[in-house]
Amino acid sequence: FRWGPGLFWHRSKSTGLPDVRERTLVAIKPDGVQRRLVGQIIQRFEQRGFKLVGLKMLQASQDVLSEHYCNLRTKPFYNSLVRYMTSGPLVVMVWEGHNVVQTSRTMVGHTNPAQAQAGTVRGDFSIHVSRNVIHASDSVEGAQKEIQLWFQAKDLLDWNCWDQISTGEL
Ligand code: ADP
Repeated sequence: FRWGPGLFWHRSKSTGLPDVRERTLVAIKPDGVQRRLVGQIIQRFEQRGFKLVGLKMLQASQDVLSEHYCNLRTKPFYNSLVRYMTSGPLVVMVWEGHNVVQTSRTMVGHTNPAQAQAGTVRGDFSIHVSRNVIHASDSVEGAQKEIQLWFQAKDLLDWNCWDQISTGEL
């Protein structure tokens, strides 16, 4: 083990990586982009202390979405969900840090905005389950699959904080 910036570094049982390097996939859905919420959402993850390691804006394909939502294919709302998710560009991100999967779910709030606490993204910015602004992976294993689905490994950046680099290295 060693000390990181304010953190005790230990290894995750599931990934074997130091758990400050846990990663999750967060996507701002088309309504979030249309409503100009991108900056405010990114700000919440930055100020919480997470590290952005991947970011892109894209128009999602039906193929990627059917993989992403494969566990929902039999739901009555599935077709309208795919129409919603393809109705405009998404901003897809990978965030890294201690317990980032679980903490991001807490920051995002309940799937149904009516049950989302104030202070969560959905609780502050949405009123309807079919326009709930944001996605975040629901488990460490799910996050690994989603990150592989949406990103190529070369597009994730393993950058170091400047306060961990001695000035001699710059
Ligand atoms: P979460 O996004 O909170 O992990 P789910 O995986 O259950 O929730 O659902 C995925 C997405 O499907 C939701 O974020 C929402 O956009 C949509 N969805 C879920 N339930 C409904 C519903 N009853 N009607 C319309 N859309 C829904």
